Amino acid sequence: MKRSYDAIVIGTGQAGPPLAGRLAGSGMKVAIIERKLFGGTCVNTGCIPTKTMVASAYAARMARRAAEYGVNAGPVTVDMKQVKARKDDISGRSSTGVESWLKGMQNCTVYEGHARFAAPHQVTLGEDLLTADRIFINVGGRAVVPDMRGLDHVDFLTNSSMMRVDFLPRHLVIVGGSYIGLEFGQMFRRFGSEVTIVEMAPRLIHREDEDVSLAIHDILQAEGIRLRLNAKCIRAAKRDDGVAVSVDCTDGEPELQGSHLLLAVGRRPNTDDLGLEEAGVNQDPRGYIVVDDQLRTNVPGIWALGDCNGKGGFTHTAYNDFEIVAANLLDNDPRRVSDRITAYALYIDPPLGRAGLTETEVRNSGKRALIGTRPMTRVGRAVEKGETQGFIKILVDADSKQILGASILGTSGDEAIHTLLDVMYARAPYTVMQRAMHIHPTVSELLPTVLGELKPLASQLGASGT
Ligand SMILES: Cc1cc2nc3c(=O)[nH]c(=O)nc-3n(C[C@H](O)[C@H](O)[C@H](O)COP(=O)(O)OP(=O)(O)OC[C@H]3O[C@@H](n4cnc5c(N)ncnc54)[C@H](O)[C@@H]3O)c2cc1C
Repeated sequence: MKRSYDAIVIGTGQAGPPLAGRLAGSGMKVAIIERKLFGGTCVNTGCIPTKTMVASAYAARMARRAAEYGVNAGPVTVDMKQVKARKDDISGRSSTGVESWLKGMQNCTVYEGHARFAAPHQVTLGEDLLTADRIFINVGGRAVVPDMRGLDHVDFLTNSSMMRVDFLPRHLVIVGGSYIGLEFGQMFRRFGSEVTIVEMAPRLIHREDEDVSLAIHDILQAEGIRLRLNAKCIRAAKRDDGVAVSVDCTDGEPELQGSHLLLAVGRRPNTDDLGLEEAGVNQDPRGYIVVDDQLRTNVPGIWALGDCNGKGGFTHTAYNDFEIVAANLLDNDPRRVSDRITAYALYIDPPLGRAGLTETEVRNSGKRALIGTRPMTRVGRAVEKGETQGFIKILVDADSKQILGASILGTSGDEAIHTLLDVMYARAPYTVMQRAMHIHPTVSELLPTVLGELKPLASQLGASGT
């Protein structure tokens, strides 16, 4: 059946539903299409379930450390069925919330099925043909399954199938030492699995500064996680009791024996089965939809938001994409992608909060810069909590006095980073924060102190002295 709308939204991730709400609220007749789970990756297989499980893993860790705090907790066991049930409940409520919100929305029709372009302003969905002058693509991404030898013959897990795990893997081998791999690795180690993380690069999360990466390496290793770096030509083979992963490393055993294999080697956009060619929408060589600073594709009346445009990769960037599109279309407010400052967190424990440029990026920029650092062992709140791993690092432009970037690896680092982020958005000089009176005892109270002890950034790489 052919139906026409003012706007079609494809995907119910982090940008689609709020955009549908704004468009429908402005009086437009809107269709929104979801092929699988309402709420998309973050709600069902990403942020919410993983952070719920990280919380269970933290509880297990603190229970084991209880005696350090004078608390007698007895032997600690983890019930994986309960861990999963708690995760399913929190994530399920969030997904149901999105679904019922959309289904109850005035001026909005929800379709369930796979959407595919038939022409620039036509989308097919089973027997239905939907047309609209405005189409918003919010199809997200999925785990990359690499072209790895032997993978055809072994069972493997991704972030999606990990959500069904309600048992304790005896030995979880994770291929990929970046954000997703590290979060799963630490949580399953804390649940009680043996964990080995295999990474091709010479260090973990190699996009971060070397000192950050090395500190995280030490944190994970201290918990008994085995790390195999510089792994080249990774191969998998089936074994009676699991999987063998050959790593061909320059040192260490050439083959690991695990019970389960998790692939965490990156994400790819869900654009390969969307009929973008029929619509004439340009993609880059990796399949990301090419958009301008206001998220318009090359085809007038078609926008792409969230992970599928390659401009973010986080829930907050997808939501910010919604805000940018809504502001431009409905509020006469010319917000742009280039207005935003890089910000994200890595949710190992302690977490890493990041804002703006890394130290390496500052050095490569050629700017005259200042740097301030402080280990968490010299942050009172961290000492009181018995969580002193990590450090604070802040970089400042020596000429403009604006904050260029920061990393806070440490307890509450994911929260404290926002103090710096907001000063960066305000484009205020760092001295504003240096003179601010922060609350004692917090991690944030030391940020003015770090800013009061800035030193010139030495010219050679990796010389921050943290
Ligand atoms: C394990 C993991 C942990 C993460 N943790 C964090 C975190 O802590 N913080 C953070 O900020 N980000 C995190 N992320 C990233 C975050 O989940 C994503 O950046 C975010 O969900 C992207 O939202 P989106 O709206 O672009 O797409 P998605 O949330 O992926 O939603 C896209 C939706 O479109 C639907 N769809 C796709 N194709 C079609 C089609 N043809 N027809 C109809 N529907 C379609 C999909 O079913 C899906 O529901 C994590 C990701 C993973 C995998």
